[in-house]
Amino acid sequence: MEYEQSLEDYLETILILRQSSNEVHQVEVARRLGVSQPAVNKAIRKLKEAGYVRTEGMHIFLTESGNKRAAETYDKHCNIRDLLMRIGVDEAAAERDACAIEHVIGSETYAAICAYIESHPKD
Ligand SMILES: [Zn+2]
Repeated sequence: MEYEQSLEDYLETILILRQSSNEVHQVEVARRLGVSQPAVNKAIRKLKEAGYVRTEGMHIFLTESGNKRAAETYDKHCNIRDLLMRIGVDEAAAERDACAIEHVIGSETYAAICAYIESHPKD
């Protein structure tokens, strides 16, 4: 479980970094996640084995399945964060907690959150 959790964090981080630049460097991933370079290397190796990323030198690219998994995780992150902020959680705490909840939330609960957000548009 913890293994999957951290891999999703990596995928999500690569996806977010890619939004600001096409090339995602391993050092940026380490900096953003606050982890060591060896930790990044290890995670990247696992992500490669799982077929989620490929690398060119120090640059990381999401494969099609990696992109899909990353996008699913990031969607969850955004919806959970939105819900938390709507119930009064401040943005920093909502970001942090969404990033933890996104990996463990069950599909029923997540579906209920999505339905709630959809039926209660922000004004
Ligand atoms: Zn997250």
